[in-house]
Amino acid sequence: TARNSVSLITGANKGIGFHIARALGAEGHTVLIGARSQERGEQAAAALREEGLDARFLYLDVTDEAVVAAAAKRVEDEFGRLDVLVNNAGIALADGDWNTSELTVATARKVFETNVIGVVSVTNAFLPLIRKSDAGRIVNVSSEVGSLGFMTGDHEFAAMQGGAYGASKSALNMLTVSWSKELAPTGIKINAMTPGYTATDLNGNQGWRKPEDAAKAAVKLALLPADGPNGGFFQEGNEYFA
Ligand code: NDP
Repeated sequence: TARNSVSLITGANKGIGFHIARALGAEGHTVLIGARSQERGEQAAAALREEGLDARFLYLDVTDEAVVAAAAKRVEDEFGRLDVLVNNAGIALADGDWNTSELTVATARKVFETNVIGVVSVTNAFLPLIRKSDAGRIVNVSSEVGSLGFMTGDHEFAAMQGGAYGASKSALNMLTVSWSKELAPTGIKINAMTPGYTATDLNGNQGWRKPEDAAKAAVKLALLPADGPNGGFFQEGNEYFA
């Protein structure tokens, strides 16, 4: 019998991450709901189990190295491998979004701690398990405002300043490209995507996309065939280069 793929989605208790988990669960994957709150994570996993999906809470605060290591150990003990990692957890803090000169050190540090260092921590802790998969896929949830091409070109967001948030996603895109070069010989694929401006708590539900639609590009990258792309930056239906 074919074994289930095992997928971990960070920050999956709500927003886009929850819908990525739901869609991968509907594909038959065992989905690990990474969440920093046991209560919110258990609730989200229970909601997906009610829909008949194999969803389990995994305690994971991406900014806590010891917690990340313990989570990797749990997955190793239970499954011995990881097939899909979606680095979705992210934060946006408002100061510096309009005038980067007003960005505080505390905000810059906090945003990078979650959006960049957190991804380094989780990815490198889980890579030994992803190497044991026969179709390892890593998806980094990035943003248009992390793209130098978009932000200096004629894209609709080009008038905005990215602040620490945009800079953190630029760093994430570069890390994606770097990992993709190193991992290419292993067959593991790592790509970044942008969900588009989506109604979630991240922006006070101001976005115009629905989170279930925003999840689609990430799901596609999580399910890439062996001849799929590696080291790219995608939006649903399009490919852009960071
Ligand atoms: P939400 O605020 O709805 O969800 C963010 C998720 O990340 C929550 O589950 C949150 O957990 C979790 N999270 C935050 N910090 C940590 C941490 N330290 N450890 C573990 N989990 C954490 O936002 P979205 O769904 O919109 O965001 C998901 C991703 O999409 C982010 O990377 C974001 O940058 C990206 N994105 C979103 C866009 C949008 O328009 N919404 C546009 C472009 C990119 P908790 O509930 O505990 O806070």
